[in-house]
Amino acid sequence: MNLILLGPPGSGKGTQAQMMTERYHIPQISTGDILRAAVKEGTPLGREAKRYMDQGELVPDEVVVGIVKDRLNASDCNSGFILDGFPRTLPQAEALDTTLKAMERGIDHVVSIEVDKDELIRRLTGRRTCRRCGAMYHIIFDPPKRDGICDRCGGELYQRDDDKEETIRARLQVYERQTAPLIEYYRKRGILRSIDGVGEIEEIFQKIIKAIEG
Ligand code: AMP
Repeated sequence: MNLILLGPPGSGKGTQAQMMTERYHIPQISTGDILRAAVKEGTPLGREAKRYMDQGELVPDEVVVGIVKDRLNASDCNSGFILDGFPRTLPQAEALDTTLKAMERGIDHVVSIEVDKDELIRRLTGRRTCRRCGAMYHIIFDPPKRDGICDRCGGELYQRDDDKEETIRARLQVYERQTAPLIEYYRKRGILRSIDGVGEIEEIFQKIIKAIEG
């Protein structure tokens, strides 16, 4: 099954994508995770991407399209994939169509997780990430047992630069302007499944499964 998860930053898309990989045994392809790993390693790609990411802006289309093309060709994508955080612009969506067509594949469902802006800001400013293993916490909704320390690996928790309030507002604006039009793009094709993203994580997951499996 080939899936796209669409949703603004803070909509819980990454969490839901992880749960979906377990249910469907297909990999999660998160362009944000791939870019963050490149930044951490200090590769040329990482150095270029960091300039945009720190400002809450999108990395240029040709860069992310290249990453996704390579990733889709890996053998673990043979039985399907979950795209999380890609496509984010119309040109990315079109490039994805072209790539999949050449592979004689297509998208089965686009799940759009919807959450209003105030709730997104509340969620995102409280987010903390483990420097060592990447686990995520929330100071209100999902706090670690010990302040500032990861439950899983004992690593230090920090606030990603792109989770600071000013950057968050910029990211939400970028989403509205550049990514939200994709909702219409996929709706017209009849493959869009809209999900209300406010509620318990498990409850939202059940709604997604129902939308996909009918
Ligand atoms: P995310 O973790 O998905 O919120 O992504 C974090 C940051 O990585 C974004 O704010 C962008 O700067 C960059 N990024 C991730 N995915 C894309 C994409 N598909 N197109 C452009 N930039 C991206």
